[in-house]
Amino acid sequence: MMEPPATTAEEEKGVKRKTNEDEEESPTTKPYTGHSQKVASHYNSLQETGLAVRSHSRIFHMRNFNNWLKSILIGNILDQVRESSTDRVDISVLDLGCGKGGDLLKWKKGNIANLVCADIAGVSVEQCRSRYEDMQKKCYRGDRMFVADFITADCTKEVLSARFKEKKLLFDVCSCQFVCHYSFESYQQADTLLKNACESLKPGGFFIGTTTDSFELVKRLELSDGLSFGNEVYSVRFDQKGQYPLFGCQYNFNLEGVVDVPEFLVYFPLLEEIAKRYGMKLLFKYRFSEFFEDNIKNQQNRNLLTRMMGLESYPCEGSSTPATEAPGEYDHAAKHKDSGASLPLGTLSKSEWEATSIYLVFAFQKVS
Ligand code: SAM
Repeated sequence: MMEPPATTAEEEKGVKRKTNEDEEESPTTKPYTGHSQKVASHYNSLQETGLAVRSHSRIFHMRNFNNWLKSILIGNILDQVRESSTDRVDISVLDLGCGKGGDLLKWKKGNIANLVCADIAGVSVEQCRSRYEDMQKKCYRGDRMFVADFITADCTKEVLSARFKEKKLLFDVCSCQFVCHYSFESYQQADTLLKNACESLKPGGFFIGTTTDSFELVKRLELSDGLSFGNEVYSVRFDQKGQYPLFGCQYNFNLEGVVDVPEFLVYFPLLEEIAKRYGMKLLFKYRFSEFFEDNIKNQQNRNLLTRMMGLESYPCEGSSTPATEAPGEYDHAAKHKDSGASLPLGTLSKSEWEATSIYLVFAFQKVS
C-alpha cells in the first residue's frame, strides 16, 4: 500500500529511472510469479518524479506527513540504540523493502555506520543504489557516510542472510516501512519476512515499521454498501465481505490512480505472535493519529514537520491554492478556526487524512 513515500523537499536528489529488461527476476532464484511478480512489476514501473511535479500532486502533503512520521520513528529508535550502549556504537541497519531509497537521508542523518537495503523490485534497488552513490559523492570531508549493500530478493521467500556480504552480520535495527501487507499471502511468506526482519538482530535490537490496520480496513468495508470504499485520493476493493481469513485475505489498493496493487490484510496479533517466535517483544503499536499526537508535542518534531511540509497551511497563504477545491474537504479545519483556536502547523484535507489513517506504526525489541 502507498505510493512509495516521496523524498521531501530536503531529500530531493533527482535520481533518474533506469530500465531493466529482466526487472521481474531475482538474480539468485527463479523468476517471480503470481503476487510477487505483480508487486515487483508494479513498483519497478513507477516513475520517480521531481519535487516540482510532486508538489502539484493531490497527496503531496500526505506523503510528506508519512515521511515525517517515519523520520520521527527512525530518529527515536536510533536514540534508543545509542542510549542503551555505553560505548560509541557503529549502528547497523537492515532496510527491508527499501524501495527507491526514500529513507536513505534519514539513515545518513541518524549517523549510522552500515546499511543493507533489500527489495523485490530490481529497478527500485538500482535507483536506491544510485541515490546512495550520489549522496556519497556529495559528502564533505569529515561528514560520515555509511557503508551500504543492496540486495534484490523476494524477502517473503528468500532467506536474506545467505546473501549478506559479511555472513555473520547482525543489525541494531530492522526497518520495514509499508511492506508487511505484501507478505500475509501465506503463513510461510509472513514467517519468512519476519525471520529476515528479526533473526539477524543483535540482542536488544529493534524491528520497526508501518503497515495497514486490518481492523480499520475491515471496519470501513463493513460500513460500506458494497465491496469497496475510499474517496477522491484512495480506494480499497475486496473480493468478499464477512469472511476474513488470517492469510491470503486479498484486497486491491489504489492511490490517486497511480498505485494499483494487490495487498493482504495483516491481522496484527498474528504478526505479533510470529515475531514472538523470533524472540521479539512488542514495545508499541499506534495508529498514525496516536503517534502524531504523541510526537507533535516535541518542538523539534514540530519544526521538522514544518520543514518537510507535512501539513498544508489553512487558510492558504499568499498565492498558494488548497490541494483540492472539493466541498467539505477542509470543514474540520474551518470549524477549528471558527472556534478561535489557531492552526499553526496546518492541516491535511479530509480525503488525505482518511487515506493515511489506515496505517499503524510499530516497534519490537529482541529480548531472547
Ligand atoms: N520502504 C520504502 C519506503 O518507505 O519508502 C518503500 C515502500 S513501498 C510502499 C513498498 C515496497 O515493498 C516496494 O518497494 C516493494 O517493492 C516492496 N516489496 C513488496 N513486496 C516485497 C517482497 N516480497 N520482498 C521485498 N520487498 C517487497
